[in-house]
Amino acid sequence: MSEIMSLEDKYTANVYGKREVVITKGRGALVWDINGVEYIDCLGGHGVCVLGHSHPKIIEAISNQISKIITVPGVLYSDIRAEAAEKLVKIAPKGLTKIFFSNSGAEATETAIKLARKHTGKKEIITMIKGFHGRTLGALSATWKNEYREPFEPLLPGFKFVDYGDAEKVEKAVTEDTAAVIVEPIQGESGVIIPPPTYLKELRELCNKKGILLIFDEVQTGFGRTGKDFACQHWNVTPDILALAKGIGGGVPVGATLASDEIWGSMKPGDHGSTFGGNPLACAAVSAAVDILRNERLSEKAAQTGAYALQQLHKHLDQNRLIREIRGLGLMIAVELKTKAKPYVVKAVKERLLVLTSGNTILRLLPPLVITREQIDQVAERLSRVIQPLASTD
Ligand SMILES: *Cc1c(COP(=O)(O)O)cnc(C)c1O
Repeated sequence: MSEIMSLEDKYTANVYGKREVVITKGRGALVWDINGVEYIDCLGGHGVCVLGHSHPKIIEAISNQISKIITVPGVLYSDIRAEAAEKLVKIAPKGLTKIFFSNSGAEATETAIKLARKHTGKKEIITMIKGFHGRTLGALSATWKNEYREPFEPLLPGFKFVDYGDAEKVEKAVTEDTAAVIVEPIQGESGVIIPPPTYLKELRELCNKKGILLIFDEVQTGFGRTGKDFACQHWNVTPDILALAKGIGGGVPVGATLASDEIWGSMKPGDHGSTFGGNPLACAAVSAAVDILRNERLSEKAAQTGAYALQQLHKHLDQNRLIREIRGLGLMIAVELKTKAKPYVVKAVKERLLVLTSGNTILRLLPPLVITREQIDQVAERLSRVIQPLASTD
């Protein structure tokens, strides 16, 4: 354990299962530790780094903005905020015409929940078993995992959990007081769970029929990750409210909650707010990030590289007896093991590969969308060395 790790452990809250590596630099899909050792980053800043680390256009955009002004609160107008909002709306699924900017994924889903309650005047939210929506108390109320919830109860009342992937279960849970259904188009934290092909369409029809709002949490799946700009576009389904964060700021913390003018029309001045939300620095990053997503055709790239990655992972791992399943869409990939994943994450660091876990048994890959085929080959090779029966020294 290095001095820096001890220092960070001493002075920061111990809430993360840390990998023993100090990262000091990143470019594209690569990061370097303090000793200059190079890693392929399939952790991708926890799914944030869709454009690649330190994209030159992001550096340029935030540097330019820093020299002008860093903070302009929401009660004043800002040129760059107007620009960022317009650009994000222009690429968003049709009908999502207005944005509230916040600072994180949890805030984006909190905002979605508040907006749904305000607009409908109803209280209940139907959410999914194995769903993840963030760690603040409201977002946590919509999050499934007991480990995350129990120590912090009581949470918000009015949240009902149903099986993911089965629209009939949602229909059965609807009451007179149901405001909204919140769902990830592909469940991320729970291990890249892709729903049956008709599921989101059925949810859309159900919500239309019952006059309930449909909220998609695309904090992880949005912004090119799955091979479309937004994952809901795989199924041609548009939500009433869309929560975004992770990738949309090119690494800078930003959350965004999108809905129609009509739905946002039910919020009046004073109903909601955020001191930092929509600050010029974050908005400069969003504006540049949208340009990069488009100009570099990153969603298409994610679709192609993602298909290649699945092929390579199958090639290297299908015969591996520790593997249960390999699945994914675009560059959102799960390698499910028959055993606990954690020791393999630690082993991967030694092979200069950074990955995430999901649940107990899943290795999750969320690399930058700019990752090259050569780097994918390396990822598959390194994983095949990592996923081997553990020696007593591992
Ligand atoms: C990461 C994530 C969140 C929470 O985002 P934070 O920025 O950590 O608050 C919410 N929903 C989904 C689907 C996520 O993947």
